[in-house]
Amino acid sequence: MQKLYTLGCLALILLLFSCNKPTETQEESNEPTMSESEKRLAKYTSFKLTTDLSKLTEKEKQMIPLLIEVAGLMDNIFWEQAYGDKDALLSSISDEADKAFAKINYGPYDRLDGNKPFIEGVGDKPAGANFYPTDMTKEEFEGAELEGKDDDYTILRRDSAGKLIAIPYYEAYKEEYEKASALLAQAAELAEEPGLKAYLEARSQAFKDNSFVKSDYVWMDMKDNTLDFVVGPIETYEDGLFGRKAAHEAYILIKDKEWSSRLEKYAAFLPELQKGLPVEEKYKATLPGTNSQLNAYDVVYYAGDCNAGSKTIAINLPNAEEIHESKGSRRLQLKNAMQAKFDKILLPIADELIAEEQRKHITFNAFFSNTMFHEVAHGLGIKNTLDGKGTVRDALKEYASTIEEGKADILGIYMVTQLFEKGEIPQGTLEDFYVTFMAGIFRSVRFGVASSHGKANMLRFYFFQEMGAFTRDAETGAYRVNFEKMKEAIAALSAKILMIQGDGDYDGTVKWVAEQGKIGADLQADLDRLNDANIPVDIIFEQGKEALGL
Ligand code: ZN
Repeated sequence: MQKLYTLGCLALILLLFSCNKPTETQEESNEPTMSESEKRLAKYTSFKLTTDLSKLTEKEKQMIPLLIEVAGLMDNIFWEQAYGDKDALLSSISDEADKAFAKINYGPYDRLDGNKPFIEGVGDKPAGANFYPTDMTKEEFEGAELEGKDDDYTILRRDSAGKLIAIPYYEAYKEEYEKASALLAQAAELAEEPGLKAYLEARSQAFKDNSFVKSDYVWMDMKDNTLDFVVGPIETYEDGLFGRKAAHEAYILIKDKEWSSRLEKYAAFLPELQKGLPVEEKYKATLPGTNSQLNAYDVVYYAGDCNAGSKTIAINLPNAEEIHESKGSRRLQLKNAMQAKFDKILLPIADELIAEEQRKHITFNAFFSNTMFHEVAHGLGIKNTLDGKGTVRDALKEYASTIEEGKADILGIYMVTQLFEKGEIPQGTLEDFYVTFMAGIFRSVRFGVASSHGKANMLRFYFFQEMGAFTRDAETGAYRVNFEKMKEAIAALSAKILMIQGDGDYDGTVKWVAEQGKIGADLQADLDRLNDANIPVDIIFEQGKEALGL
């Protein structure tokens, strides 16, 4: 049985380019020149993951070290999936900055620079990472009669005769799966909240028999927990060949009940918002589930896929479409990680690129809301193409994630506009949301063409430019939002993307991405200003028992 996935969301993120020349001021100062490897590493700035542990019970505190151990196992598996032999790679690298950078990227490819190899002699990153034999073509895969090849939880290999075989994860990663299962069972014993206990037990079982979807249902029913643990094979972005194989990751999360209550009310608006989408009836025929949950968390540990390159700041799970249809989904806003990106990246970007009189509109509240509505927007639109031939995801193939992320961004801000005008968003002004959204585009295009989010933001930048949603001051290089035209552009782009999805328009997508899914010379020059100002592209975490004071 083939599981159909919608796109979970790695939220906003980003990247920059590695060839940032020293600025004139740096050349004039006596600072030691940074090596190329040090410059690459400087794209990331460090942030300590902590939270108020007094919200946890003693037993919950005892669970955290167990969960960290499981997270470490997911980290090892992700290394294997993304690259292969971690220890062999790291021990072959002598430059300390390169070694640190390889750890951030889970391999020798710069995730913020189109997966460009930064270690000599490693060759290009295989599109299918290490999920498939590197010499396997798409045609060979598609022609192979092989049970389990389309399953999200198998890897493909060759047998001794060179024939393709599919190996279930629980066999491929047997040692880690057995340990993870045992540790989760141990954590479940400590759990006092019945929902969390049931979920940890179900997840423990899933590591024995791939019943991840079943345990996702249990996760959906868990509502009163403070401690949460997202763990296992989850997102499919790492599989650049088919976008199907699930990569391993883990997040340890502590619910922020105060901010969560602020968010609760928005999930109820989904059906109404779906009806209000700026597109013909047929493109919005599905009614979204109404029992979706929206909560804010402090994240205290990242591992594997979500910790590679740019960091996720919001999650929309589970991915299985069958659950979306029957139960909706859960949207997790990672508040402390968002605050880190806002303070360390978005504000400095705005100071460089946004017109001075509009900078007052860059607010954390708007950033948090835009990110939150991005997550909510994944639940809008339709999942299957109008011709009845299958899912949007299958129709749009390797561009499915780019278009879905683009959809979430634009429908998110479209919804903000709608709700704001209805008076349902009490904080801030529409100008805050729009200018913060614009600054967010610069933040996200820095993730580069290797990232679905990066590409989606490039498409949006040029769409907005053509519609006059912003202007660029030729003299100062500052960008200024035109609020009226921005509003029109938001509706127009929402319609365009919803129709691409509904029509399953692969050819149109290929053409659009080829024309506008890249960074032109003008935009590049402006992004270079960010690099010259040493504004980091993303964050890395200081995390673990010590960071938490456990
Ligand atoms: Zn997303």
